[in-house]
Amino acid sequence: MKQNPLIRVENLKVHFPLYSKGLFRKVVGHVRAVDGVTFDLHKGETLGLVGESGSGKTTIGMALLRTLKETAGNISFSNSRGVVDLTTLTGKRLKKFRRHMQLIFQDPYASLNPRMTVRDIIAEPLECQTRLNKAEINEQLLEFAARCKLNLEHLRRFPHAFSGGQRQRICIARALITRPEFVVYDESVSALDVSIQAEIINLLIKLQKELGLTYLFIAHDLSVVAHISTRVAVLYLGRFVELAPTSDIFFKPMHPYTRALMSAVPTVDGTYTFEPIKLTGEIPNPADPPAGCRFHTRCPYSEALCRQKIPIWRQVATDHFIACHRAEEVLF
Ligand code: SF4
Repeated sequence: MKQNPLIRVENLKVHFPLYSKGLFRKVVGHVRAVDGVTFDLHKGETLGLVGESGSGKTTIGMALLRTLKETAGNISFSNSRGVVDLTTLTGKRLKKFRRHMQLIFQDPYASLNPRMTVRDIIAEPLECQTRLNKAEINEQLLEFAARCKLNLEHLRRFPHAFSGGQRQRICIARALITRPEFVVYDESVSALDVSIQAEIINLLIKLQKELGLTYLFIAHDLSVVAHISTRVAVLYLGRFVELAPTSDIFFKPMHPYTRALMSAVPTVDGTYTFEPIKLTGEIPNPADPPAGCRFHTRCPYSEALCRQKIPIWRQVATDHFIACHRAEEVLF
């Protein structure tokens, strides 16, 4: 394992309070959106985050970007200037730090201001977050427009004149123009056609190599995650159940939930390198998660121990971690 990760997350928890009805509203419980997640993100890698809706993927991304405050845990960011504890950043220090971390939104139609030209949209982060003069901003603008395959004519137009793929390229140029080190993609290609998705993914890979970027890639489309990710983390009900290099997750998944997810990916000849698992039932209520292993209510291998004891997060191979009492026993 490499040393000095760009981002280190330790026991991250994000809980949202639930209030009673009526005039005097009291806290009656918490939705445990993220409940004890630990991982490292190394410089230049892409970590894919997968899991069903409500598993906590977006909440982790928002907590890393400091748009959501954590309930507990530590998040540190290391670069050439030193180590910063992100959980202590507030006010002006947080605003100043934001240029190091950026977000690409899911909907390229809603995330661009229709009253601004593309030139103004892309230049705005530099105008807000740096003290560059107009000539320097224009120089950066032209560089990042070219990197994202936008020409001078495009810069004079308004967002409505562009297709979905072109708009997402504008969003990427806007996010990267401050030269961030870390970028979160939250379902950033899921609103695009398949051919355009491939074009955008290839552009992201090219930009990552050229600029040394580190990505957190959140998506529900597993084939897209497989294409771009170095490692993949599988989330279930606010906790990681498996974290491994991409090839291990797709060809040698060890956790029953990961196997169930991978079984839903169509293969060309209908065969898998592992025994497929069909899931039944819904993801439980995150305000009242099951005791023991949170997956036991849907797991075909569940036994008494699974209902009583939380599985520990353990290493089973190089860079491969799972949380399951019985993975080796029932799957091999
Ligand atoms: Fe299934 Fe038990 Fe493993 Fe949980 S700990 S995934 S219930 S076998």
